[in-house]
Amino acid sequence: FQVEVQRLTDELPLAAHAVVVLHDITALVRAEQMRADFVANASHELRTPLTSILGFVETLRGPARDDAEAHERFLAIMHQQASRMRRLIEDLLSLSRIELREHTPPVGTVSLEDVVEGVVMGLEILAEEKDMALQVEMISDSDLVAGDEDELVQVFANLIANGIKYGRPGTPLVIRVDRPARGPAQMPHAMRDACLVVHVIDQGDGIAKEHLPRLTERFYRVDTARSRQLGGTGLGLAIVKHIVNRHRGALTIDSTVGQGSTFSVYLPCPPPADKRARSSDFLR
Ligand code: ADP
Repeated sequence: FQVEVQRLTDELPLAAHAVVVLHDITALVRAEQMRADFVANASHELRTPLTSILGFVETLRGPARDDAEAHERFLAIMHQQASRMRRLIEDLLSLSRIELREHTPPVGTVSLEDVVEGVVMGLEILAEEKDMALQVEMISDSDLVAGDEDELVQVFANLIANGIKYGRPGTPLVIRVDRPARGPAQMPHAMRDACLVVHVIDQGDGIAKEHLPRLTERFYRVDTARSRQLGGTGLGLAIVKHIVNRHRGALTIDSTVGQGSTFSVYLPCPPPADKRARSSDFLR
């Protein structure tokens, strides 16, 4: 609590001379703490590869100056570390751009089939390396939602790339576009009123229940070493969450350890184009 004391001076002939006002600043302090944690985490994530690059530069200038084989090896590692820094900076920029736009939902109409097919095409090589098939299932008759195409590409690129990274080699990764199932009345609006839902279903190791609530936090990883080794930044799901929020949609995660995970994105309907056409007909 922030305590504020207001003097009442002489105007009031009552016994009270001051009022104490208590402001609840819990949310403010929490937001400030989160911001500080974020800056500390981002700096740490950037410093680790930078320290490694500087170390290799020193070695190449000193002890390994005339070692051609070491040159090749160290340059490859430096390239890898610099790429990691670039990915991290790109993700940080995406996140801040999306946060700035989060209060204004996108107004366009997007074909989910186009988005999913495009992303799948771009990730096919990555999937083949793990002997995984990317299976797209279009269950719904329509594939249109309200949204921003570039942002939705980013959502499904992150989810499908995660499905490949954390999926089990030799198993398929299913991307299913469907109408949302009718749920109970207390279901969140963003899910109940959604036009379509896309499920990304993997058969990987799954995620233990205690991690699920924190999975979309920036830099939260179940296994940091594994994520880094797979080229992860720890920001992918935070980006997904913010984009889905901006779309006024919903993200759910279902997972069973040892069996796999399902990430589901619920998206709203496009503006009713035929309704607009009809009202203009009426005006004529
Ligand atoms: P990263 O860059 O580490 O993959 P994300 O934000 O995309 O970051 O994901 C956060 C963490 O969630 C990952 O480090 C991983 O532990 C877990 N995770 C994400 N997707 C999956 C999945 N499909 N299966 C198992 N774990 C996953």
